[in-house]
Amino acid sequence: MAKCVFCGETIKPGTGLLFVKKEGAALFFCGRKCEKNTLLLHRNPAKANWTQAFLQEKHRAQAAADRGKAKKEEHAGHGGKKK
Ligand SMILES: [Zn+2]
Repeated sequence: MAKCVFCGETIKPGTGLLFVKKEGAALFFCGRKCEKNTLLLHRNPAKANWTQAFLQEKHRAQAAADRGKAKKEEHAGHGGKKK
């Protein structure tokens, strides 16, 4: 089954939209909302808080932040051992 190019949801058979660009690229959309956000409004899926791409970006940022915290704690531990 195809996935929506904007929100990332799986499209049920018999529903959704298929937009074919002049170049021949096929874009599957789950509905008008995703079609408008992509073709008319040129929005970035990673910045729309109702998409899978936004959640992935959020988790990636959170993981990076956690890694940064762990490194800081590690450095603090080494400083304590030296003294
Ligand atoms: Zn969609």
